[in-house]
Amino acid sequence: MTVSLFDLFSVGIGPSSSHTVGPMRAARRFSLKLKERRQLKLSASVTIDLFGSLAMTGIGHGIDKALLLGLEGHTPEGVDPASIPGMLSYIAHTGVLNLLGCHPISFSSDEHLIFNKGKRLPFHSNAMRFVARDFQKNELLSQIYYSTGGGFIVEHEKIHDPALAEAGKAVPFPFETAAELLEHCRREKRALFEIILENEKSWRSEEGVKEGIYNLWKVMQGCVKRGLHQTGVLPGGLRVERRAAKIYRELLKCPDPKEDPALLFDWVSLFALAVNEENAAGGRVVTAPTNGAAGVIPSVLHYYHRFTPNPSNEGIVKFFLTAAAIGMLYKARASISAAEMGCQGEIGVACSMAAGGLTAALEGSNAEIENAAEIGMEHNLGLTCDPVNGLVQIPCIERNTMGAVKAINASRLALRGEGNHRVSLDQVIQAMRHTGEDMKSAYKETSEGGLALFVPLNLPEC
Ligand code: SF4
Repeated sequence: MTVSLFDLFSVGIGPSSSHTVGPMRAARRFSLKLKERRQLKLSASVTIDLFGSLAMTGIGHGIDKALLLGLEGHTPEGVDPASIPGMLSYIAHTGVLNLLGCHPISFSSDEHLIFNKGKRLPFHSNAMRFVARDFQKNELLSQIYYSTGGGFIVEHEKIHDPALAEAGKAVPFPFETAAELLEHCRREKRALFEIILENEKSWRSEEGVKEGIYNLWKVMQGCVKRGLHQTGVLPGGLRVERRAAKIYRELLKCPDPKEDPALLFDWVSLFALAVNEENAAGGRVVTAPTNGAAGVIPSVLHYYHRFTPNPSNEGIVKFFLTAAAIGMLYKARASISAAEMGCQGEIGVACSMAAGGLTAALEGSNAEIENAAEIGMEHNLGLTCDPVNGLVQIPCIERNTMGAVKAINASRLALRGEGNHRVSLDQVIQAMRHTGEDMKSAYKETSEGGLALFVPLNLPEC
């Protein structure tokens, strides 16, 4: 299926793209389907069964809240994060949920949200089944959706109908592999970002693409800015302290990184911390390409914008278009879902995208971009997903700092070469997919292995 840059990068809310953004979209889609079928007003209840990773780590990832908001018709990009607690508190206290904001049904999370721990549906670990019933408890509509990572949603019927699953926009330069993409570049004598820009023009004008990119960049900058000034403890019960504001205050007193280059690491880490603390707090972020890994790309963009010699708006556009191309390759040939690939599918992919994007912004060749993206993934292969207590906090927040630093290093290594290298991007994507398929489910967003097992939870829930 052809995806756009604006599918891979979208404005949403934290803490998770697969467990918050995707389920909110699915719930809204279910309510809209009821409306289309003229069943909205006949509905007396909606029950949602959650399976696989959504059942195991859904609460820590905020799925319960996202589903309610989606049923009420809210979108991840439109909902105001500040208004969410009030809306949820209304539903909890009255037991009334308004489908699409206009049709009241009685709703209790205890009764209508069912976490089927240890069970999964065959196609994908992130499955949800919605069932609406009328006042006589007869079933009106039942629909299964899969949240396949990065906020993408697939309806069950589309999995079993290849024609529907493949339906996508026809673009002038279709590709599924890096080799095909590079062949388009070679044949057309164009930079990689130009090929993606041509494809994006199938959806919107060139000005529209650029405006959309600038808007994403603005939201990322706003997210970093907010994150640099928030203090306190993150929600969820782990009592993780926000660190970005303190580090920011300290860094402002330090010399310019030109005098002490090691400080660059601190700044890059700071930008990533700021985003991922906002994400963990349920704030406004750009899914890039997931929420758990939402700090890597903004951090590397801030590095480009603040610390490289000649940053420009054009460089920002090249960065986004190139990073999107790399994300599309992972989406087509592997997955960006931690429930399928572990953290290599989130931080690994974000690192690879950021490495390629930065190389393009720094005027690297197409071969150097491919090399940088390959290095960015090669050293994340096997990275597991083991969030403590099912929260997108430990190891997720710090892991974004590692992904960002690694992406810059990957870009620098590639720019020191000439694009000649032994391992291709296609090969590393194949290796990543194979590694993900071999990985036990304990390491794929279930919180049943790794750090999730060995970090004690001796703090009370609050
Ligand atoms: S460990 Fe990685 S993949 Fe898992 S939730 Fe955290 S950031 Fe996402």
